[in-house]
Amino acid sequence: MDKKREEGVNTRCVHSGTWEDAATGGVNSPIFTSSSYLFPNPSGKAYYPRYFNLPNQAAVASKLCALEGTEEAIVQSSGMAAITVALFGLLKSGDHVVFQPDLYGGTHHFAVTELERFGIEMTFAKGRSAEDFAREMRDNTRVLYLETPSNPLLNIGDLREAASVAKERGVISMVDNTFATPVNQRPAELGIDVVLHSGTKYLGGHSDINCGAIATTRELMKRIFPVAVNHGGTLDSQACYLLERSMKTLGLRVERQCANAMELARFLDAHPGTGRVYYPGLPAHEGHETAKRQMSGFGAVVSFEVEGNKADANALLQRLKLITPAVSLGGIESLVCIPAETSHAKMTPAARKEAGIKDTLVRLSVGIEDVEDLKRDLSEALSL
Ligand SMILES: *Cc1c(COP(=O)(O)O)cnc(C)c1O
Repeated sequence: MDKKREEGVNTRCVHSGTWEDAATGGVNSPIFTSSSYLFPNPSGKAYYPRYFNLPNQAAVASKLCALEGTEEAIVQSSGMAAITVALFGLLKSGDHVVFQPDLYGGTHHFAVTELERFGIEMTFAKGRSAEDFAREMRDNTRVLYLETPSNPLLNIGDLREAASVAKERGVISMVDNTFATPVNQRPAELGIDVVLHSGTKYLGGHSDINCGAIATTRELMKRIFPVAVNHGGTLDSQACYLLERSMKTLGLRVERQCANAMELARFLDAHPGTGRVYYPGLPAHEGHETAKRQMSGFGAVVSFEVEGNKADANALLQRLKLITPAVSLGGIESLVCIPAETSHAKMTPAARKEAGIKDTLVRLSVGIEDVEDLKRDLSEALSL
């Protein structure tokens, strides 16, 4: 593992974790289709999919460890499975959790609809600075939950600062690293304890797998793992292999997606048909300096406000010919959506307003297409 950490990100993407097939010497991990395994068997291990110990599950988890620089990882059946299992693994009745104010819609919905039933208290911090988090911490605070860049406004939180505020108080810090990917941001190196992913997005990268992952220390995994087994959000070997195969090109895909996103952000920023453009790579973005410090790329989601009203935003989406109006993000194809109607539809209008998510906000997930084609599509749709 240590040797692997010294290698470049693309080398780790390609080689880390591969299950070596002694029988044939094949260069890819073979797919283990069985859910039943001889017991006792020569390895002495009780293999079972829901114990997350099948070779395909281990291969992809090990690749993620190498990329995130963590001791352990497990794959989960979705990003929400990863998020909820990590929280339930580390919180119990009577505990308190501090969330940053702007979260993925599903995470926000989970926080407001489920935690209270289990006697878990929570607070949404007013902002995402160290002081904002410190102010909300109580004696029973156990977890600080972060997401950066955030969905859909690409707000940037300083991970090193947040991690140290948490550490000083014995609070576990967690970050949803979906938007950044380990190619652009490695939170564990900045002191964050638990790294979460919706693998449905960039790790999978081809809009054909629903999966998630938790990467953390050996010590915290001891608490999270039994809860994962109880909750049963397993990922089968076929999907694990698809994820492993996808992650081999993660570095290349993300590099191209980030370059395209930077160019489109500049283009949209200069266009008279758009309002505010949100992209951490733009020097005017509030989080630009922090992003430069803690990320090696600015990510591939660009959000922008459309001049006019909700109907104008919807009409723009309909005029696009190449970029597809669709939910989700992170794939090789460019997608657009209106967060107020999709990812953040479950939030109340008041909560959305407070988070700064306007009805005319469009979220663009930039793919690997030729950027000139994407620019032309946006230009034609905006100029009507
Ligand atoms: C999509 C997403 C999730 C949820 O992932 P699923 O795989 O859909 O369960 C969590 N966090 C972020 C930032 C996301 O974009």
